[in-house]
Amino acid sequence: MPSCRGNSLRAVSAVRYDPYPEHHHAICPEDPKIPRTVIPLTRTRAGLAVALAFSSALLSASTPEATASDGLGDPVFPSLGNSGYDALAYDLAFTYRPDSRTVYATTVITARPSRALASLELDALGLDVHTVRVNGRPAAFTTHDEKLTVTPDRPLRRGITAQVTVAYTADPRARLPHTGWVPTSNGFAVAGQPGSAHTVFPCNDHPSDKARFTISVTAPDGLLGVANGELTATEPLGDGRTTRRYESREPMATELVQVSVGDYTVRERPGPHGLPLRDVVPTARAADLEPALALTADQLAWAEQHLGRFPFEAYGILPADTDDPDAFGFTGLETQTLTLYKPNFLRQPEPAIGSHMMHELVHSWFGDSVSPATWADLWLNEGHADFYGLMYRYERGWPDAFGYTTLVDRMRYVYGLGDQWRHTVGPVAAPTAANLFDSQRYTGGALVLFALRERVGAGTFDAIERTFLRQHRYGNATTADYIRTASEVSGQDLTGFLSDWLYGLRTPPMPGHPDWTVGPLTPPVPPAARGLGGPPDHGSGTL
Ligand SMILES: [Zn+2]
Repeated sequence: MPSCRGNSLRAVSAVRYDPYPEHHHAICPEDPKIPRTVIPLTRTRAGLAVALAFSSALLSASTPEATASDGLGDPVFPSLGNSGYDALAYDLAFTYRPDSRTVYATTVITARPSRALASLELDALGLDVHTVRVNGRPAAFTTHDEKLTVTPDRPLRRGITAQVTVAYTADPRARLPHTGWVPTSNGFAVAGQPGSAHTVFPCNDHPSDKARFTISVTAPDGLLGVANGELTATEPLGDGRTTRRYESREPMATELVQVSVGDYTVRERPGPHGLPLRDVVPTARAADLEPALALTADQLAWAEQHLGRFPFEAYGILPADTDDPDAFGFTGLETQTLTLYKPNFLRQPEPAIGSHMMHELVHSWFGDSVSPATWADLWLNEGHADFYGLMYRYERGWPDAFGYTTLVDRMRYVYGLGDQWRHTVGPVAAPTAANLFDSQRYTGGALVLFALRERVGAGTFDAIERTFLRQHRYGNATTADYIRTASEVSGQDLTGFLSDWLYGLRTPPMPGHPDWTVGPLTPPVPPAARGLGGPPDHGSGTL
């Protein structure tokens, strides 16, 4: 269990771990983009505007078209993301200034226009933009709402890749309507989910537009800058600062970006079959947190038994260096290859944390490798994470927050709340922004998976899960994609069955459990008083 700080990190990238050596060329590393799911462009006013812009562009294909985007029309967050281009790659550079506790940064976005563009929009909030360049030439820019509109000196041509460079300053402590920054006493971390990555860097801030990421972090010596992926370069600047460069080998959604500066110790240890484990721990908390960090390797082995190979080049845990219970809205957040945690959670004994650690780990498969096509598909992330997190708990005999010791008993309890939840926070796959992270997406989603397993049997269920993960690896998936895979693999049309479970306003009968009953509707009560695990803003049943 070697641990190191600073330059000795150089060794990390000496031998590259490859999770799928047999499929090495399935996704060409030179092709920065895999096929993406197109968000339905109907239902919303903004979506309609986008659709109109598309048809208008078709009518005048030779005329550069100003982006008419006010978002991609996501069913939950219609204004997130922008049409007219595909972000292929981001090169982010952050320089932390300890005197002002601000961050100077540049973002270089490589984008491919899907039509001729007189201007393009990026999501951005709270960024003090200094300059914008397009293909090296100064470009005009304006801001409105949470958009940065960039107008190059000449129109962008359809299909011709362009580089947009934005230089800006940001204050992690700034008070914004929402923020992805997690300020700490000597630096910061990032928690961008669901729609706050664009307070950290300008971007096409929607999970459907995954891209390659390279992230450089410059910090004063004595502090350490870290980010997702693999450390590929360490460069002392000779002025008391060091720049570290990290590359993510696989595509990543903007909401999963992690960048952090702090007084960190890096703990490296071997995982299953040579997978490198890298924890980034506040130095003063390292001894305290070591028992929790030491649990990851066994958790990985368990998860791989169910889900197949861990999909990324490395995994690790980043306990934020803050005791503020409101530092960010989750206990843990699955930022890709480096899960962010509130540190005090991890100071508890294994039976209190193992289930939720499994929840966060499972997000590497469901959420990070296979990302939701829209935020309405969040149950694919959280339902799966809770399903396996709870299974892991009960296999080990750890009672849950209600005292249940089996998945069947917990699911029967959730089943009884089914009509109430569908009434107060909507069906599992039909969230709103206000109730997106309600328990319905977590244990409610796990209940759908439980019902499916009861219907098709454990062996077929496992095959569905692995097939779905393989079909959409490093890409996006919709709820309809999951239903399609379940039908294909099981050899039976499960469209009606799963649609009732995912979209119905009444809880369907539970296969194999005709004695299970659903409780009556009662007047809505605040989430905090509803009593299902964890803080009111995070509905995971694994807490
Ligand atoms: Zn989760």
